[in-house]
Amino acid sequence: MAAQSASEPSDRDIARAVAPRVLVVEDDRRLAELLDELLTGQGFAVEIAGDGQAGLHAGLTRRYEVLLVDRGLPGIEGVDLITRLRSRGILTPILVLTARGALNDRVEGLDAGAEDYLTKPFEVPELLARLRALLRRHADRADSLSLGRSRLDLAARRVVVDDGSRPTDRSADTADVDLTERECGLLAVLASRPNRVFTRAELLERVFDGESPGVVDTYVSYLRRKLGKDAVVTVHGLGYRRGTA
Ligand code: CA
Repeated sequence: MAAQSASEPSDRDIARAVAPRVLVVEDDRRLAELLDELLTGQGFAVEIAGDGQAGLHAGLTRRYEVLLVDRGLPGIEGVDLITRLRSRGILTPILVLTARGALNDRVEGLDAGAEDYLTKPFEVPELLARLRALLRRHADRADSLSLGRSRLDLAARRVVVDDGSRPTDRSADTADVDLTERECGLLAVLASRPNRVFTRAELLERVFDGESPGVVDTYVSYLRRKLGKDAVVTVHGLGYRRGTA
């Protein structure tokens, strides 16, 4: 990554440009300052949001490599914040900080779409190790979700067939498929947890907030029309999950 321009950027410019960006959503100011100092010292570009509302706004409007979210937040509490980010197609890896070690809290956080959690008080080396692990795991799939032999490109809103899976004659049914914003949102939620069954109510809340429940079935049928009837599986009496097509 050598710079070619006549005016070479300084080491500091380069360090800032390549530093992994982390959003810390934490209402405890002392802890937030401590995390800021600690993570900046470890080469992260740190932003702090002091409540759930600020965290939601930052998470929806700016790009980060990883989010560190406190479980108990004023405004929008941690798990609710994660659900809202995931429902808008924000798939940045999230580490939840929880003061409560109860199993239920952890399950709720993970079920909402967090990748990992850490109980306060935590050891600094463990926090850093977990952040690095999250970054490693997500480094190569920040903007796309795996769909098996294809992937969902979230920026382009397109299902892209992996080249290794294309037959040489490139028949029509293996072409890339463009999706609308809401088709993409629905598929993103289903594909984010491929083995989980989502109820109609959950999908309604996450993708089609405020609309009538029938819209979920309508968009499931749109996805099946575009991607094949097995793209979404109906689990009778429960809801929908991601299929195989
Ligand atoms: Ca808190």
